[in-house]
Amino acid sequence: VQMTTDEIRVTLSVCCYCGTGCGVRIQSKGEQVLSVEGDRAHPSNAGLLCSKGMALPGTIRRDTTRVLHARLRDRQTGQYRQIDMAEAFDVAAKVISTTVREAGPQSMGFYLSGQLLTEDYAIFNKMARVLVGTNNIDTNSRLCMSSAVSGYKMTLGADAPPASYEDIELADTVLIAGSNMAYAHPVLFRRLMQARQLRPHMKIIVIDPRNTDTAQAADLHLAVTPGADVALFHAMLNVMVWENLIDHDYIARYTDGFPALKDRIREFTPAAAEGVCGVAAADIVKAARWFAQSAATLSLYTMGLNQSSSGTAKNMSLIHLHLATGHIGRPGTGPFSLTGQPNAMGGREAGAMATLLPGHRDPVNPVHRQEVAALWGADSIPDTPGHPAVAMFDALLEKRIRVIWIAATNPAQSLPDQTRVRKAMQSADFVIVQEAFADAETLAYADLILPAATWPEKEGTVTNSERRISRVRAAIAAPGDALADWKIVQQVAQRVARQIAPEKEALFSYADEAQIFAEHAALTAGRDLDYSALSFDVLEQLGPVQWPFTQSGTPRLYTNHVFATPNGRARFAAVGYVAPVENISAHFPLRLTTGRLRDHWHTMTRTGLSQTLIGHVEEPVVHLHPSDMARYRIGDQALVTIRSRRARLVLPAQADETLKPGCAFVPMHWGSRFMAGDGINGLTHGATDPDSGQPELKHCVIGVQAYQPV
Ligand code: SF4
Repeated sequence: VQMTTDEIRVTLSVCCYCGTGCGVRIQSKGEQVLSVEGDRAHPSNAGLLCSKGMALPGTIRRDTTRVLHARLRDRQTGQYRQIDMAEAFDVAAKVISTTVREAGPQSMGFYLSGQLLTEDYAIFNKMARVLVGTNNIDTNSRLCMSSAVSGYKMTLGADAPPASYEDIELADTVLIAGSNMAYAHPVLFRRLMQARQLRPHMKIIVIDPRNTDTAQAADLHLAVTPGADVALFHAMLNVMVWENLIDHDYIARYTDGFPALKDRIREFTPAAAEGVCGVAAADIVKAARWFAQSAATLSLYTMGLNQSSSGTAKNMSLIHLHLATGHIGRPGTGPFSLTGQPNAMGGREAGAMATLLPGHRDPVNPVHRQEVAALWGADSIPDTPGHPAVAMFDALLEKRIRVIWIAATNPAQSLPDQTRVRKAMQSADFVIVQEAFADAETLAYADLILPAATWPEKEGTVTNSERRISRVRAAIAAPGDALADWKIVQQVAQRVARQIAPEKEALFSYADEAQIFAEHAALTAGRDLDYSALSFDVLEQLGPVQWPFTQSGTPRLYTNHVFATPNGRARFAAVGYVAPVENISAHFPLRLTTGRLRDHWHTMTRTGLSQTLIGHVEEPVVHLHPSDMARYRIGDQALVTIRSRRARLVLPAQADETLKPGCAFVPMHWGSRFMAGDGINGLTHGATDPDSGQPELKHCVIGVQAYQPV
């Protein structure tokens, strides 16, 4: 894997940004990364990289932009002092042990990240559930794909994207919903564009309130009103039923529940739905026909469906279209959720979320709890439900959680309703922040800062959107005192065990990442994702593989149309359309949606270090339709005050005809370190989907007015 030529090392690894999971070849010399190029042998990207992947060398620093040492805050003076790692582990262990002893296990919370590797997730999860004794463990993946998880489970029976990237090249119709792939998953978008060159008959439908670069490449763009996707999908199904385009045989043989859904969608005629979802009835009919009549239809979807108070219903109503037409389990078909983060999938597999357990098990299921406990060598897993991300910070604010350990994520920028989130961290008894980048806003709330290694300094595995597990390899050593996340957890866990449960110390005695992976893989045995036959050695021999994996990987699920439900039949559910939580009013007349830019990643702690990337868009602006700018007397590039029910922000306005009138767009990347106030997510609200717990980051209502200096 690693070759040495004149001291230049080549290390095969995976890009650390999006869920595409592109394989990379890192060229390094000493502790310097010289270049990063696409790995032609990696099946997910075949050598392709996007602008973010190519600019990775410019983001690797060993200077003050990194958290290099542990620091402890004096609560009286607010001053930090540098401490060595042994003292840092002792402090963390003492705080956790004392809190668990005095306030109980539910007073502790762990908030993790889709940036972590599966091995990091696995050890954090074990520490939370069996050592501390709480299910209060969740991750920023909650903000990204938890509605996709619940959508899959409620229809197909398991959290398993059924398709592969190669299905992009085999589809005749591709429906892209709530995804600006051209920016968020650029290599997949390039694969799609190349596929269309080879298959000129391919039709692409894009559902997005904005006429994004992705939408501009579509044969049909459905500019849905933000939040109204369920009405649109139901209307498409209504057309399919009315025009007899559904696959009656498939529905009868492989599914349950269609009659109730058929009754529910009766009222969603294209004409009626047009008034709700803002898409012309004729376009709804056209989309339904293209979807149903094509030989192979693939759907690709992400945050636009997931980040919603009805995210699960949106996912389900799209999956219904596949089940009703039999576009699943065959090449070029399937409902395929694209994950945002590089290892959101691995976090799901490791069960490091309040609503999951390892191996796609459920914490509410006593048999599953017992299975995990036994495989971990522990007595039990607690049965008290844990708090998902937004609720975890609510619990912190209300003092039901006293101490929180945050790793590899920046909630002081990324969670909605920032005023509340920041108050929560300020009011905590103790905040531990394990972080690599010194710019992260969350560090300002830390009592203890733990320096973490990051890409390309870590060893382990990640799983990408197509269920492909790849090895992540270290090309250089971590700077300063920074350590791999799992090593930090191990050190603290062993110390906590000594104080509150000495018999559990041995549960954390791993020699390396391969051992953690082996334990984790064993937890998947007999489950839908089974990759218990995998090990670091096997990955070394075979390269990246897709789960489930026995002797070989599995590119496509449900090819026998037996689903992961108890009776093997997929489920329709008569889900209704529910409008977003906030509605426009005289005071808040515009709908604000947030999203990604091509060259930035999340809160820009990494991409903000690259001169190449920052040049794409240097500052945040609010995009408004010219008709709204005229209505509110706002000039192009003029400063504008944006008000939501929670916060105000001042940003330059930019006229943007790709928006629907009445809608506004702000990129999600800029936080409080770039502007007065709480950043973009000061505006958004923390209402969540009742099934997935995912917050409605894609919709809130705002008012705008020309900025008046006080
Ligand atoms: Fe990295 Fe995603 Fe770009 Fe691939 S598409 S290079 S994984 S950011």
